[in-house]
Amino acid sequence: MVLAVVLRARAAARPVTRSFTSRAVDGFVGALGNTPLIRLEKVSKATGCNILAKSELQNPGGSVKDRAALGVVLDAEQRGVLKPGGTVVEGTAGNTGIGLAHVCRARGYRCVIFMPNTQSQEKIDLLRMLGAEVHPVPAVAYEHPQNYNHQAKAFAAGLENAVWTDQFDNTANADAHYRTTGPEIWAQTGGALDAFVCATGTGGTLAGVGRALKERSGGRTQVWLADPPGSVLHSYVTSGGKLKERSGGSITEGIGQGRITNNLGTFVEQLDGALNIPDEKTIAMMYDLLDSEGLYVGASTALNVVAAVELAQHLGPGKTVATILCDGAYRYQSRLFSKAWLQSKGLRDAIPEHLQKYAVLD
Ligand code: PMP
Repeated sequence: MVLAVVLRARAAARPVTRSFTSRAVDGFVGALGNTPLIRLEKVSKATGCNILAKSELQNPGGSVKDRAALGVVLDAEQRGVLKPGGTVVEGTAGNTGIGLAHVCRARGYRCVIFMPNTQSQEKIDLLRMLGAEVHPVPAVAYEHPQNYNHQAKAFAAGLENAVWTDQFDNTANADAHYRTTGPEIWAQTGGALDAFVCATGTGGTLAGVGRALKERSGGRTQVWLADPPGSVLHSYVTSGGKLKERSGGSITEGIGQGRITNNLGTFVEQLDGALNIPDEKTIAMMYDLLDSEGLYVGASTALNVVAAVELAQHLGPGKTVATILCDGAYRYQSRLFSKAWLQSKGLRDAIPEHLQKYAVLD
């Protein structure tokens, strides 16, 4: 009885507003994009700013990489290098492979994924369940010809009607965000956007969204990069264009970079700043987003939200800052919600006492 009263009072305090579109869309590809922009209540209140998160985990393949996957496939079709019944090949251990596997099923292509053999069985199984052919290969550095990226390229080169989609350096990736994600964020904020920040893997999201926002705002919207430990881009931006040797590592997946990819390209010169986010802050935010907003997100997303908060604090109250919800925690939950795993990474104590209850796995 008391609980019911409390719940009703809480619900009354937070009116729910939702708008629905009545339009039906065409299949997987039609359902891609047009994701909600979510105002994060707790961090907005704490900073006195509007902190907005583009919910890319609501794409039909579950991540921000669905748009890039569709972008590189459409580009290959338009260039005439991929014809009906052809093969799409990529080197990836993560969301790009999942996005490509979905898009390939939806458009009738064979999907072949090369990945380092250090990746979890769950990732291999998921891609195979989505119909992709997976080749785990020795986990060797990029300089080595057996590296999974080079093997993907060589495999595609040896087939008729096949394309290596080359997510890091094929700018059809960033262009997909330039044409869709960026303009959507601009429209959803009515152009009232002071800053955008996100982490980078290929750099496609940051450069594509960033370019679209800079163009529309006449340069007024600031665009910042967020980096996990072990990535060199933060030091590149803050120390005048020097690529420092990688040191340290991070529990985040899909982000962090050791070079300027073609997708990031010259946009790196237009960045207004960069933030380096330690894993301790990332993991605490991941648990807090679950507790305070009901959002079950992966570590790269939590890092993005920490960066948005720090940028909001830097800019001062009254500003609007946007970032990206990259994917859900589902693919990482056996680690990120395991007490033993968190302990092994020295991160268990980074989670505030009242949030420890969410680490339910041993
Ligand atoms: N978060 C996750 C979970 C990802 O898989 C990726 C893609 N590698 C990113 C963020 C970064 O996206 P982008 O490749 O566009 O820089």
